[in-house]
Amino acid sequence: MLANLIMEAKHTVIFSGAGMSTESGIPDFRSATQGMWRHKDPAKLASTYALEHNRDEFVAFYRARIEGLQTCAPHDGHRILAEWEQRGLVHSIITQNVDGFHALAGSRYVAELHGTISRVHCQHCARVYSAVHYLEEEGTVCECGGFLRPSVVLFGESLPDDAVDMAERETYAADLFIVLGSSLQVSPANLFPQVAKRNGAKFVIVNMEPTELDYLADLVVHERKIGEVLAEANKIICTNE
Ligand code: NAD
Repeated sequence: MLANLIMEAKHTVIFSGAGMSTESGIPDFRSATQGMWRHKDPAKLASTYALEHNRDEFVAFYRARIEGLQTCAPHDGHRILAEWEQRGLVHSIITQNVDGFHALAGSRYVAELHGTISRVHCQHCARVYSAVHYLEEEGTVCECGGFLRPSVVLFGESLPDDAVDMAERETYAADLFIVLGSSLQVSPANLFPQVAKRNGAKFVIVNMEPTELDYLADLVVHERKIGEVLAEANKIICTNE
């Protein structure tokens, strides 16, 4: 059914969350068994509060995340989406992920709603450094003396205008909107699927666990890994071409 929807659609938009990257070895935030937030409080670490008042833990948290990323890479699911973009089957990706794996896998039209962890920038002068710089001993200090922080959107910050503009345009243009690996609990990002559905798009959710928006979806796939679902759909699409 997913393959048929993709083949019939004229403008397919993918909306990905942390579940897209668990098969690359990056833990998600909220799933029952492995979400990293089961043991840590996001408000304490990935927040403007931590940036101002709990810097040691803030830095330790992001250093661990950047270090963890060095050994991870996009998986076949990321690559299938990039291939589908090239073949005109997918128009764009709206992602909540900060790992940059969609672009690394070759997708070109990606709105990174929550920024990226592949860079850090200075809170004072905005100078940009690569993320690995953050792992060095003095890596949290800018040349100007300012404090460096990952270029992600922290709890308490607003989303980047350019990514939001693109996500809005794509949401309204979509006639098929596919959520891949998101609990759909983080607002305002979770408004995009709701707007797409209200605007008449077919709405699909592929997520290991149930989400609060399942009742709105035309197709829901639970208890299946995204990589497997995309590979299966790709096989059917390829045999029909
Ligand atoms: P989330 O952790 O709230 O939800 C992820 C969902 O994906 C869960 O419901 C889980 O059941 C499902 N899932 C996990 N692995 C799956 C798989 N292989 N196949 C199918 N489903 C799978 O994540 P969210 O909704 O993206 O929101 C959390 C926030 O966490 C976002 O703001 C995002 O920026 C941030 N985050 C990003 C990364 C990353 O960049 N890779 C990692 C962790 C968290």
